[in-house]
Amino acid sequence: MTTLTDSGVQAGSLADRIVNSPAGYSGIEPDDEWVAEILRLKEERNATILAHNYQLPAIQDIADHVGDSLALARIAATAAEDTIVFCGVHFMAETAKILSPDKMVLLPDTRAGCSLADSITAEELRAWRDEFPDAVVVSYVNTTAAVKALTDYCCTSSNAVDVVNAIDPDREVLFLPDQFLGQHVKRVTGRENMHIWAGECHVHAAINGDELEEKARANPEAELFVHPECGCATSSLYLVSEGHFPEDQVKILSTGGMLEEAARTGARKVLVATEVGMIHQLRKAAPQVDFEAVNRKAACKFMKMITPAALLRSLTEGADEIHVDAETARLAARSVQRMISIGHSVPVSK
Ligand code: SF4
Repeated sequence: MTTLTDSGVQAGSLADRIVNSPAGYSGIEPDDEWVAEILRLKEERNATILAHNYQLPAIQDIADHVGDSLALARIAATAAEDTIVFCGVHFMAETAKILSPDKMVLLPDTRAGCSLADSITAEELRAWRDEFPDAVVVSYVNTTAAVKALTDYCCTSSNAVDVVNAIDPDREVLFLPDQFLGQHVKRVTGRENMHIWAGECHVHAAINGDELEEKARANPEAELFVHPECGCATSSLYLVSEGHFPEDQVKILSTGGMLEEAARTGARKVLVATEVGMIHQLRKAAPQVDFEAVNRKAACKFMKMITPAALLRSLTEGADEIHVDAETARLAARSVQRMISIGHSVPVSK
């Protein structure tokens, strides 16, 4: 006789072993049994699994598509399946829901937030817009749906420069919420009439210039791949300007751009300044290259909340379902659609 637990799963089954704690779901190893069950449940739900480059290796390996925010948003917009399981953080699943309002969008653990998205609220943006009523608002995709609804153009790190270049040069620009990406875009576009919100991602801000400089000096032959959200993006440019590092060895790249560059590089060693999950995809893209994290502790606790147990629970229970109210979604969809139509398309790895 089959005995069901209070949560409706078979007693003693894989799903019954899941432990829920404030730090997230645990208790499951990503072994062959887990793989088989995830694939079975995915088929049963007619679901597709999307995983961000910062996810745990086991989650990246079982996903149908792995990529950066822009690439995954593009896939979410055209997915043929009924259900999208978004292995990433809350704003990413919200973006998928905005683009595919008729689909069920699941985030395996709704507690997976983002310190950068939390660095500006809709009320704060409204007040900022009131100060600059004629400005064009450009928001990095790491924002809540409510902030996107007040935004003219969304962007990601892979198309932020293209988005800002597409705006009338005489219009002022409010760029939010990431100050490091904003400074990078301002530097590359040479745009003076750009105001930048002082937000930051706690993971990237912690990859600092001192660490980068130390690693770069110890590895003079290595290339540097630096994410523009990093606190060290400015330091890497300083190293170049001071002649400590040849310009062509420093690449400021989105995560998707890093994968493209990994496939092209002739370097034997590459120092990588971004969240450590990225190393997994880079090694798959270029196994002959020695990729080393500038800061091995730069792990996003929110991204790592999507554990094997969380994904199994999500597919078993159809949880956690993401909802965006219709009016917010309608307004946010304009800025998100502009984002996915501007800039080059970053290939999605799998
Ligand atoms: S790495 Fe930073 S920006 Fe990315 S999800 Fe984590 S907190 Fe947000």
